[in-house]
Amino acid sequence: MNLLEEVIDQDVCAGCGLCASISDKIEMKLSKEGFLRPDFLPNSISDDTLEDISKFCPGIIVKHDLNYDVSNVSDNVWGPYFNISSGFATKKDVRYNGSSGGVLTALSVFLLETKEVDCIVHVGAGTKLPYLNETKVSFTTEDVLSNSGSRYAPSSPLEVIKSLLEDNLIFAVVAKPCDISAIRRYLNVKSEFKKNIKYLFSFMCAGVPSIEGTKETIKKLNVDINNVKTLKYRGEGWPGFFKVVDKNSKEYKMSYNESWGGILNKHLQFRCKICIDGTGEFADITCADAWDEAKGGYPSFQEKEGQSLIIERTSKGVELINKAIKGGYIIKNKPFNLRDIDKIQPYQLTRKQNIISRKMALKMLGYNLPNYNLRSLLSLTVNQSPQKIAKNFVGMFLRKLKQKKHD
Ligand SMILES: Cc1cc2nc3c(=O)[nH]c(=O)nc-3n(C[C@H](O)[C@H](O)[C@H](O)COP(=O)(O)OP(=O)(O)OC[C@H]3O[C@@H](n4cnc5c(N)ncnc54)[C@H](O)[C@@H]3O)c2cc1C
Repeated sequence: MNLLEEVIDQDVCAGCGLCASISDKIEMKLSKEGFLRPDFLPNSISDDTLEDISKFCPGIIVKHDLNYDVSNVSDNVWGPYFNISSGFATKKDVRYNGSSGGVLTALSVFLLETKEVDCIVHVGAGTKLPYLNETKVSFTTEDVLSNSGSRYAPSSPLEVIKSLLEDNLIFAVVAKPCDISAIRRYLNVKSEFKKNIKYLFSFMCAGVPSIEGTKETIKKLNVDINNVKTLKYRGEGWPGFFKVVDKNSKEYKMSYNESWGGILNKHLQFRCKICIDGTGEFADITCADAWDEAKGGYPSFQEKEGQSLIIERTSKGVELINKAIKGGYIIKNKPFNLRDIDKIQPYQLTRKQNIISRKMALKMLGYNLPNYNLRSLLSLTVNQSPQKIAKNFVGMFLRKLKQKKHD
């Protein structure tokens, strides 16, 4: 079994698509479980390509061992940062249509309109099948705006990188944290491309649901999947609704709490449960939902005007945020307290607390990948009760053991 086959076999592929971009022998395809996975013929990938893949694949390695303009101040939970604040897109329609405050879209528009980049790599609805995701390369403000909003389904935005580099285009990438880790590592090896891949933007990610999650949500709304004209997971308000418009222009809606909390997050890919970076630690800028805290300390999903959490992680990211504020594209509020993020993004915190016990259980069953630096997680793990640590260990052990027997 080669390294890539092992990543797929151990179910730690994140579906980023970078391997498919660097090798014309690999194509990203939906697996029977509904995730995007590299597809290739046995023995078709050269040793040199596999060697390259081993250096960046997020199913193999996610580690802070790179040299770039990242801040050397880092929090064990939220990663490296210069500044953390909330904010929103100045233009009302950008803010309204974005998932949270529309900041990622506003920054992308700023880069295009100031001609800092030729295009933006991101993800939008499929042109032929709007309930699927499609990688988009947007060259105009209109294109960027039409692809704003989060899409809670598999995406492989890095599959287009090589062709853009071959055309010597200058671009920014908006992608999941695992994708961004892959491209940051790729740039570390191929530093000649740093002038082309100018900015890396990410969002916090609680995990990628299988396309089966989307199908189940559409079904729950009593819509025939073949009758879907448009599908948005969020946006048009904050948090906004899972909204389907059918071919007769009839609208069907489900709240964020019901769609994400009730269906989509029950379909997460396995790797996301042991993900060490759900917060885009390798990006220049990460955005997330700057939820208000509700009673009981949990985030409130009451509809209101969107607010993005903005984490500026590199000096390039800081510069860009300042330019976008000056240019009138975004508005930044006062700084955000790190320990307040623990309360509004509780899942990100608990997942990091649970990784060591889950990885230990996997190790006992013979799983090795991916390679993380676990030292930063030790203090998070030991601050938990022994019962919680044991519960996570046993839960993961039994789940994977059952799956192994089933396979
Ligand atoms: C799978 C998933 C899980 C998430 N989990 C969390 C979480 O735990 N906590 C949290 O605060 N936020 C989470 N978000 C992100 C959140 O919904 C917002 O995207 C984030 O707050 C940025 O909002 P914005 O208004 O600035 O972005 P927008 O202005 O709406 O721009 C979003 C950008 O992301 C791109 N994009 C959308 N979906 C995808 C995708 N699947 N893959 C790659 N690019 C994509 C769009 O093309 C667009 O450029 C998640 C998003 C996704 C897709």
